[in-house]
Amino acid sequence: MHKERERRPAVPSARPAPPGTPAQPVPVALHTVLTLVARSEAASRAEIARRSGLARSTVGHQIDELLRRGIITETVVGQSVRGRPPRTLTISPEAGTLAVVFVSPEATGVAVTDLNGDLIAQDTLDLRVETGPDTLLPAVAERVRTLLTEHGRTGSPVRQVVVGLPAPVDFVRGCPVRPPIMPGWDGFPVAARMTELLGAPTLVDNDVNLMALGEAERGTGGDVPLLCLSVGTGIGAGLVTAEGTVHRGADGAAGDVGHTRVPGHDEVLCACGKTGCLEAVASCRAILAALDMPEHTPDDPAHGLRLLCERLANGDAQALHEVGRAGVEIGEVVAMLVLAFNPRTLILSGPVADACDELLASIRAVVYRRALSLATRKLVITTSQLGARAGLIGAVVLAVQQTFSPDGVGRLLGSAR
Ligand SMILES: [Zn+2]
Repeated sequence: MHKERERRPAVPSARPAPPGTPAQPVPVALHTVLTLVARSEAASRAEIARRSGLARSTVGHQIDELLRRGIITETVVGQSVRGRPPRTLTISPEAGTLAVVFVSPEATGVAVTDLNGDLIAQDTLDLRVETGPDTLLPAVAERVRTLLTEHGRTGSPVRQVVVGLPAPVDFVRGCPVRPPIMPGWDGFPVAARMTELLGAPTLVDNDVNLMALGEAERGTGGDVPLLCLSVGTGIGAGLVTAEGTVHRGADGAAGDVGHTRVPGHDEVLCACGKTGCLEAVASCRAILAALDMPEHTPDDPAHGLRLLCERLANGDAQALHEVGRAGVEIGEVVAMLVLAFNPRTLILSGPVADACDELLASIRAVVYRRALSLATRKLVITTSQLGARAGLIGAVVLAVQQTFSPDGVGRLLGSAR
């Protein structure tokens, strides 16, 4: 089976309707045609008919409708010896834009793209998650509007917003739920507020879910099912299923593995209020504490991490030893995840994994020792190739998926001319 087909269902799966314009029902043929064009899987009428199994006349009728509404464009490419010159169908740049936001403890990434997910502009704002939603969200919306203006897209409506947060997220309600050390965010209606600010439906998701989606769609060798494990200030996991969608669980809490209790550390207090959590003994914060290094200075939230990464890159034996110890603790939990979910790829992400091989090596050794079975026979364990960009890329992937879902296309048609 072709890899791309394996990853993506023929039609995007339905998701909970986000706040925004009510969707109108979309004819199946029209949705099929638009999906093939949006995914660049077919760019001509003949190709669409062949791939969809729809009659040529039906395809022609749907394309005329999408052209009339300005959602797709048809351009002449090259020359034909006889007959009509070849034409190619693409999503119109005028059809709208997508805005994505990725909030982290250190900074906030913002990007605007066209409906295909092709980047128009991006920026990194000096806004940390601790800034709180009342200040952060309006500042982000303002930056999105400025980026659109600077790139001549003022008249192009924002069709979908996606916000990634370093917190457990209620995906249906679009708000973070009881995030440790994020004052002001608990239960804050992030989706509703962004919809109010940018006039577009908004999805809110956990940061590692988006990183996993970015790795699965755009990373190299990221075969699904893909498990992404992020080791930073906290520890979290995101799982992209064989169908190419994020496994969020019943309440959006899937992957919150940092608060798994590890044996032998009952005296260590975690930011969540419990003791002996994986995050409390093996996150970057725990490694810094073990090395007696301060986490941040008043003007630099990433001071400790930067110094740690320098020490690791220089082969500092004590720092490498602490990372190796953390890797053993993380490996025990990862081995259990591998046995439970049988991923094809395990991506290790975060600054320490980027700075040295020690974390990957120790996790890999524990996983193969503990989970030696059918589940590890073809398992690839590797570090992220997208690095810090994975989250923002995943947010774009989710925004595109949502835009061309049945609900999204309904809204697109409902508001197009
Ligand atoms: Zn905890």
